[in-house]
Amino acid sequence: MKVDQVITSRRLLLTVGGASLLCACSRAGIRVSRAPAPLASPTADGAGASDASSEEDGQGSAGPSAAADGTSPAQTATPDAAGAVPPADTPQTPGEADSMVHAGPKTVALTFDDGPNPIDTPRVLEILREHGVIATFFMIGMNVKRYPDTVRAVLAQGHRIANHTWSHPDLGTLSKDGVRNELERTSDLIAETCGHRPVLFRAPGGFFTQNSYEVCAEMGLRPVLWDVDPEDWSDPGPDTIVQRVLSSIRTGSIVLNHDGALTDGLITAPGSDGDRSQTVDALRSYLPQLIDAGYRFTVPDGG
Ligand SMILES: [Zn+2]
Repeated sequence: MKVDQVITSRRLLLTVGGASLLCACSRAGIRVSRAPAPLASPTADGAGASDASSEEDGQGSAGPSAAADGTSPAQTATPDAAGAVPPADTPQTPGEADSMVHAGPKTVALTFDDGPNPIDTPRVLEILREHGVIATFFMIGMNVKRYPDTVRAVLAQGHRIANHTWSHPDLGTLSKDGVRNELERTSDLIAETCGHRPVLFRAPGGFFTQNSYEVCAEMGLRPVLWDVDPEDWSDPGPDTIVQRVLSSIRTGSIVLNHDGALTDGLITAPGSDGDRSQTVDALRSYLPQLIDAGYRFTVPDGG
């Protein structure tokens, strides 16, 4: 299947609603291991998602020979004297979303989309707590409403809670007012639930639109994409997820994971669309490997 066909089919999945929305978070079904091109015209034609290259130079890979201290994973990092990466206060270009962080060498951000989920989100939290790692959770408003205690548990552990719309729609199908409603309703409920108002936003599937950029600017939300997509939502197996993360990650990477899904009912049955146990199992494997390789963890710029 050609790339543009993949994009088209994924956009159809985003559009038809219901269960088809479950796995719609990964942009165009493409595993991006380099910063994706800015979505200059990210409307119904999927423009901007054509950078499907998986070029790798090996930098930042979590091989056993990589420098490691492995003892004290930092929640934030200090850039080294070499200034190998831009400073953390690098301004975001209007109309673009961040796909990288700028917090120092071998510093990356882990992100979890489509939760909260009352089973798998706590499992993720346990692993992160065990290793002293901070992460960012892009939550769906409808799931925030269902599982407020899980929202509060995420915040209590020091992680960032971010906005991922109310109902995970294809933003390209909505008016600007429709987009604003999706974002405002979600931020309002998150603030009401845990006292924290999100400052980061990720569009479902990564499909930012001009309307969504404008609404983000008006609401003070910073658009965030990703750099590494292991397509964990497609349940390729924990080993495959681990391999994809470790082979693609580099300084500044934002890693896309999923700790939940949007469903109409219970989402915890093993093997169901909402079962994120593969993501959990993969995290349990790749996180200590990244730490051993010297990686440190932060949150997206501005978060
Ligand atoms: Zn999503």
